[in-house]
Amino acid sequence: MLITELKSRETLAELAEGKMLFIVNCLGCKEVHFPEKEAAALQREWSDEGRITGILTTDYTCNPENLKLRLHGHMAEIGAADAVLVFSCGVGVQTIARYLEDKPVYACCDTYPLPGFQGVTPLEYQCDRCGECWLNLTGGICPITACSKSLLNGPCGGGKNGKCEVDSQMECGWERIYRRLEKLGRLDALKGQARVRNFTAGEETSK
Ligand code: SF4
Ligand code: SF4
Repeated sequence: MLITELKSRETLAELAEGKMLFIVNCLGCKEVHFPEKEAAALQREWSDEGRITGILTTDYTCNPENLKLRLHGHMAEIGAADAVLVFSCGVGVQTIARYLEDKPVYACCDTYPLPGFQGVTPLEYQCDRCGECWLNLTGGICPITACSKSLLNGPCGGGKNGKCEVDSQMECGWERIYRRLEKLGRLDALKGQARVRNFTAGEETSK
């Protein structure tokens, strides 16, 4: 189980600043908390400013086949946007980022754990519900689950030929992150890595 919470208004304003936006809302997991009203209010503001090219409200963005079908009818709107802003848990954001390889995809929510059964997602993109979601600094690839050591500030240096030193069958997550940011022309995002991270913000929420 998990909880999604909107990132702070300052963070979201920074993400959206000066950009045309395509929005994805994922309302699949009705049994978990999703900040539906807050997200809708914020999107109305952006819409009033004429900065939204389109909105897709769907369910189960974590299902790649479903997602592909849903996004298919919106590709022109996505093409007209500078960025895709996603209101979902970390799994949904990763699935969308994987599909829209040439477009910056940003997480608008943080994802926290909630005691109970783990939901079933039909794919390999993982979210450990670590709290302050790091995907906006890593090109939509999760450093917690894509790196064997869950490193947040860059690679360990042990990878060889693109493979992880802990698991040679696995691609080095940090090489993937670097390649994606390079492709997007966003390598500057790596400069923001070295800062204190909030590991505890979700504790109050999940009690
Ligand atoms: S950084 Fe990774 S584990 Fe943490 S909330 Fe984001 S997707 Fe989930
Ligand atoms: S080789 Fe890459 S994926 Fe493996 S632990 Fe080091 S940084 Fe992480």
